[in-house]
Amino acid sequence: MSEETTQEILLLKLGEVVLKGLNRNVFEDKLTANVSRHIKPYGRFQVYTKQSTIYVEPRNEECDMDRAYRACLQVFGVAAIARALPCAKDVDAITETAKRYLKDEFAAAKSFKVESRRADKQFPMTSIQLSQAVGGNLADAFPGVAVDVHNPDLTVHVEIRERAAYVHGPATEGAGGLPVGTGGKAMSLLSGGIDSPVSSWMMARRGVWLEMVHFQSPPYTSPQALEKVLSLAKLLTPWCGQLIIHVVPFTEIQEEIRRNCPEDYFTLIMRRFMMRLAQAVAQKAGARALVTGESLGQVASQTMMALGVTEDVTDMPVLRPLIGMDKSEIVKISRKIGTFETSILPYEDCCTVFTPRHPCTKPFVSDVRDAEKALDVDALVEKALSGVENIRIKGDGTIVRKPARTEE
Ligand code: ATP
Ligand code: MG
Repeated sequence: MSEETTQEILLLKLGEVVLKGLNRNVFEDKLTANVSRHIKPYGRFQVYTKQSTIYVEPRNEECDMDRAYRACLQVFGVAAIARALPCAKDVDAITETAKRYLKDEFAAAKSFKVESRRADKQFPMTSIQLSQAVGGNLADAFPGVAVDVHNPDLTVHVEIRERAAYVHGPATEGAGGLPVGTGGKAMSLLSGGIDSPVSSWMMARRGVWLEMVHFQSPPYTSPQALEKVLSLAKLLTPWCGQLIIHVVPFTEIQEEIRRNCPEDYFTLIMRRFMMRLAQAVAQKAGARALVTGESLGQVASQTMMALGVTEDVTDMPVLRPLIGMDKSEIVKISRKIGTFETSILPYEDCCTVFTPRHPCTKPFVSDVRDAEKALDVDALVEKALSGVENIRIKGDGTIVRKPARTEE
């Protein structure tokens, strides 16, 4: 066996990608490319797909397998990940490798079985013969662990491939979903709260390539509030890939609303402006849908009628992955993906500036349209769009700022 095959490799099991009939190649290619990009900082790897599995093999000793493994846990489209150890293609070598490599798993198990796959058809034993031989040896080596082929605590996997045999134990659950980039592009409205990082993550998990739009209202919102949003976006890049955040100046719009519109409608009219602006930014970026962190009934502006009023000004699909979720469920995801601690930092969002004392919870579209007539909507939208600043967060976390459009 050559030097290079003695190192641990990663086996990534494909998730829903395998259901994708004719498009399957497109999905697999995208996933392979995404995996390669995620692990690039950790060394030189060979990444290829075979039989619903992506193989990640280190090309040299310098590869950091622990970090590559952790990076792969954040790649959408991967259902499960196993670390496997290569060895020579014979029963004794396989047995010895399993004994050593899966020592801890055997210590924790009451029963086990061996499951073999044979990609190398030259191998002299059938899969069943191989499983029986290795299983027999392991049963002798671990007398306290019984063979149970139906419902074992531990399944020892053996794969006979061209270059070597591979041994691995149970796989870890992967990120699931579909590869980012296969589900089209959408513009996600990212605030500094708990919900919108989660809604963004959920859509990225369905394969959607995201860009972000954020509305800021200085001096009512502070520079720290924007920094917080950038930190949240940065936490999302390992899942979503590099992100562009379109920062839209929103102060004048909010002041105009306060000056000219009935207080009960402040939030609703503000949200309609957010939708108009988000749609314009989305169209320019080639995105086909908007994403928000709205959840039915969570606040006055998220009742069914309020959502209808908000949606009235856009003809793009508005994706609201949290619509049917309880706050506690959203918080759970936010903790899992690592955004929660940042989300609860106490910086104000433009939504919390000028909040009405008695927001209307059952608004009619026609009434809100009437209330809005006091404003020059098009001019306000145009002006805000001319001040958009693009901030790019690269895959490695570095931040690149681009000036507002007027300065280009
Ligand atoms: P979050 O926890 O994400 O702030 P929320 O429960 O506070 O959401 P709202 O403040 O009413 O709800 O906002 C609803 C949604 O509108 C947010 O989830 C987000 O998608 C969008 N949104 C709110 N404020 C902003 C902002 N300043 N910039 C961009 N999007 C925003
Ligand atoms: Mg909010």
